[in-house]
Amino acid sequence: CVAASLSKKHLPLARFIGDSAAPVATNFDVVVIGGGHAGTEAAAAAARCGSRTLLLTHRVDTIGQMSCNPSFGGIGKGHLMREVDALDGLCSRICDQSGVHYKVLNRRKGPAVWGLRAQIDRKLYKQNMQKEILNTPLLTVQEGAVEDLILTEPEPEHTGKCRVSGVVLADGSTVHAESVVLTTGTFLRGVIVIGLETHPAGRLGDQPSVGLAQTLEKLGFVVGRLKTGTPPRIAKESVNFSILNKQTPDNPSIPFSFINETVWIKPEDQLPCYLTHTNPRVDEIVLENLHLNSHIKETTRGPRYCPSIESKVLRFPNRIHQVWLEPEGMDSDLIYPQGLSVTLPAELQEKMITCIKGLEKAKMIQPGYGVQYDYLDPRQITPSLETHLVQRLFFAGQINGTTGYEEAAAQGVIAGINASLRVKRKPPFVVSRTEGYIGVLIDDLTTLGTNEPYRMFTSRAEFRLSLRPDNADSRLTFRGYKEVGCVSQQRYERAAWMKSSLEEGISVLKSIEFSSSKWKKLIPEASISIGKSLPLRALDVLKYEEVDMKLLAKAIPEPLKKYIKCRELAERLKIEATYESVLFYQQQQINEVQQDEALQLPKDLDYLTLRDVSLSYEVREKLHFSRPETIGAASRIPGVTPAAIINLLRFVKTTR
Ligand code: FAD
Repeated sequence: CVAASLSKKHLPLARFIGDSAAPVATNFDVVVIGGGHAGTEAAAAAARCGSRTLLLTHRVDTIGQMSCNPSFGGIGKGHLMREVDALDGLCSRICDQSGVHYKVLNRRKGPAVWGLRAQIDRKLYKQNMQKEILNTPLLTVQEGAVEDLILTEPEPEHTGKCRVSGVVLADGSTVHAESVVLTTGTFLRGVIVIGLETHPAGRLGDQPSVGLAQTLEKLGFVVGRLKTGTPPRIAKESVNFSILNKQTPDNPSIPFSFINETVWIKPEDQLPCYLTHTNPRVDEIVLENLHLNSHIKETTRGPRYCPSIESKVLRFPNRIHQVWLEPEGMDSDLIYPQGLSVTLPAELQEKMITCIKGLEKAKMIQPGYGVQYDYLDPRQITPSLETHLVQRLFFAGQINGTTGYEEAAAQGVIAGINASLRVKRKPPFVVSRTEGYIGVLIDDLTTLGTNEPYRMFTSRAEFRLSLRPDNADSRLTFRGYKEVGCVSQQRYERAAWMKSSLEEGISVLKSIEFSSSKWKKLIPEASISIGKSLPLRALDVLKYEEVDMKLLAKAIPEPLKKYIKCRELAERLKIEATYESVLFYQQQQINEVQQDEALQLPKDLDYLTLRDVSLSYEVREKLHFSRPETIGAASRIPGVTPAAIINLLRFVKTTR
């Protein structure tokens, strides 16, 4: 393993094997490859579950690195962060120690689709994440490049072709493990592109991972190619902010983590963002220089979400596009121009930037660039993220065709938990589409696959009103604590207190009833409009937009004042009241889906030769490739017809 280039005074190196005094073990329960957003969550989750875990990554000083935008969360992504947090994952807590501008997106819509988001101090996030990872009990960190996998005979009760039992590093050394989690991001055969220049790299300044890509291909994994990109970075002092629209942070800041009531920095000390726009001159520079831009000329598709400025100009001619100027950190001299991802030659990038309002004198510190990389068709993994082909091998993060830190973190926590459960020979921990956005993400990937970088949106979830950011703890924390042990006692107790307080609060609000005329006198601020004689529960009054728990408790201090002592409890009672009636119907739909999900398909079915079911060859091939675990998952595979599902259902019922 390579010596760490990290300054030792910042980090405790007790379990960092780069330190020559530390003993080098070669046997672990779980090995995680890659210290990005998926890998850190996977390694910490496996260790929280009680497995002796090794995190193997190229460089310790890049653990927690944000390759692209200095922000976390957003619409759908904020939901994923809350769910990662509910399972005691790291990223939400680390963001609450590192955010510099908190803003909830989508506020004009209902709280079910609010997007918790924050600009993050890059340096601080990395420091805090490294501190957390290097202080996690049972977790060892080692620098090194994994080149190959060690494979052995499969376990007799399983159908996989072989079983992973360790990894081989570039220096030829080996590490043995019961389970291996692969989270190599954009590094598999990664190539960086600026203008017409290309060179092999997983990210600017980082080597690609070629040996491992070849190993996976040799094993028979179906590999595809994707691309993404990042904008240039601009010197802060060279921007004329005075002529731009300023966006101030929310006050109060809403923390990402359930266990935090506040974030590390007061709203008044947070940094602003600024908005500017592209103009026709930007379009001209892009269009005149397409011949100098190989990332755009390539036939592989660019990302639909977070697209480059070139693809926006080509797809939407004659439009202006927003460019958000975002801070990179409290003491950073850099500005990140969100919306300006570009792969033109560096001198043309600078020319393009200086055409934009506020950036007339902007100095480019680092050019934007594109990355092209291998990903593995995610229909080759199960809902626990274990591969069909190789037992005990798990994939998580961008390697599965997703984009974004949050999507990577969500898969990481699930892969880490399941890698550990596999060691203990316990059943997998699967989150269904009815329980969380994590379930939606993994179900979409494993049943539909993807041919462009997959990003989470609230529109992907059928049961949005139930899968809200505010209630992720009640959906997942108890399962995490009781079924797998990945949740701390402190978090469990907090979630249990919140659950009982909510139940008690709702029942108290249901028990307080007055006529609407009395309510109008008690709360004149609200336009309560129900017939005079009808009694109205406090819970119904709380549904009115102008009414919140503070107003209700002012009108009826006893017994309501105790419910406004905790801001989060008061807000959650309001949200529960808002959705009370619709949730009843949504629960019925959820119950129906759960019935389908309960119908398990036998794991060892050979769809290609199965005689007792009438299925077309095309359907057989699709089922053979995706190997759905339930009738519900089979029904979501494109091309698997309703008639095929009925035949499968009959078959499953007769074989049970
Ligand atoms: P990464 O964070 O990439 O981490 C992979 C880790 O694996 C690295 O630490 C690497 O050193 C290590 N590694 C790789 N191979 C090996 C090996 N063989 N042995 C040991 N260690 C290894 N997301 C967005 O949401 N919006 C964007 O606009 C956006 N733009 C991006 C632009 C660029 C240029 C890049 C590179 C990424 C961009 N992303 C964007 C994606 C985002 O950074 C990723 O989705 C996220 O970081 C994926 O997390 P991950 O853990 O899967 O991989």
